[in-house]
Amino acid sequence: MRLVLLGAPGSGKGTQATSLKTALGVPHVSTGDLLRAAVKAGTPLGLKAKAVMEAGQLVSDDIVLGMLEERLAQPDANTGFILDGYPRNVAQCAALESLLARIGQPIDIAVKLEVPNELIVERIAGRAAAEGRKDDTPEVVRDRLRVYAEQTEPVAGYFASKGKLATVDGVGELSVVFDRILAALPKA
Ligand code: AMP
Repeated sequence: MRLVLLGAPGSGKGTQATSLKTALGVPHVSTGDLLRAAVKAGTPLGLKAKAVMEAGQLVSDDIVLGMLEERLAQPDANTGFILDGYPRNVAQCAALESLLARIGQPIDIAVKLEVPNELIVERIAGRAAAEGRKDDTPEVVRDRLRVYAEQTEPVAGYFASKGKLATVDGVGELSVVFDRILAALPKA
């Protein structure tokens, strides 16, 4: 299964991806996690990305694409993957489509988790307390939500135009949302 998870920051993509990877037996590929690991390791790429991430803006398309390509080339991604945090704008949709065409692994479905903004802000405040992410402060969260609305919302339309979008209500218990996602996946 090759799945893209869409949804605002704090919509529960990361949490659901963790359960989905066990259920589907494919790796969870989060561009945010890849970038945070590069920042932590202090790689040249991480140094470039750090300030941009802390400001809640998008890291440049070619940096993220390069990281993603490297990750998808690893053997565990041969049988599929759950993409979380990519594509983040319309340019990345086209880049992803050509990368996946090249490796013969087209996306099966994009699942969009829908969660109202008030709940998102509440959830991120909880995560800030638990994880201490630098980009979870109220000001940066506001910017990340703005970036999401302006640049990432159109990504759902891209998958819809290909007949590959499923929209799922992201409000509710983790396990309830998880079952909704499973029900939205194409049957193997
Ligand atoms: P996330 O963990 O998905 O919320 O990502 C955290 C931050 O990493 C984002 O606010 C961006 O700065 C950066 N990031 C993650 N994925 C991408 C992407 N596909 N394109 C550009 N920047 C990204």
